[in-house]
Amino acid sequence: MPSIRVRLQIHNGHRWISPLSWEPWCLVCNAPMQAEANASLVNPNKFLIFFPFVLWSSEYFEVSYPVCSRHRRMCNLLDWPARRGAIVSCLCWLLLPAVIWLTCILGVMAFTSIVPVPARQLLAATLAILLWGGMTLWYLAALFLKPVRLSKLSRTHITVTIRNKIAFLHIQNAGLACTPSPPNEDLLRRLRFKRQPGTSDPS
Ligand SMILES: [Zn+2]
Repeated sequence: MPSIRVRLQIHNGHRWISPLSWEPWCLVCNAPMQAEANASLVNPNKFLIFFPFVLWSSEYFEVSYPVCSRHRRMCNLLDWPARRGAIVSCLCWLLLPAVIWLTCILGVMAFTSIVPVPARQLLAATLAILLWGGMTLWYLAALFLKPVRLSKLSRTHITVTIRNKIAFLHIQNAGLACTPSPPNEDLLRRLRFKRQPGTSDPS
């Protein structure tokens, strides 16, 4: 898929992606734009872990792109695993069905007198398989259907993958793309000094 390296904006230790100059067409079906959807990426090196369920990263990247109202919900739903980050997604993938599976078993056990034993085992197994299967499909769908994806985060750049070729060419021609380059230490140092007026540069 066509992708570009975009230089991150850095200021006061914060990094973000400048809004990309899209044309006003849905990136999925090329219909006139009616809404915006987001593509996200969390920095997996900056995860904060609060056991058992609350996990988030202190650094989070996001780029919005045009969609029609029909595709807004789909795009945001597909972005959910990326927004939560790889680790959280993995945990959810393992934990959520297990929790629901247990709840189902307990629920079914409450009706022991009504439901015979083999039937409730079959029901719990079917529900678990459906949940795991559904979540796996969700991940695969996100991988192959998301119109915009963020990946390969470095200190100064991020890769934006755009499925829609016309939109990709437009972005490329807008001059926002950068060729891959090693982290620019000099730029980082200058930015760091810029935010402290009155500090003299020692170099
Ligand atoms: Zn659309």
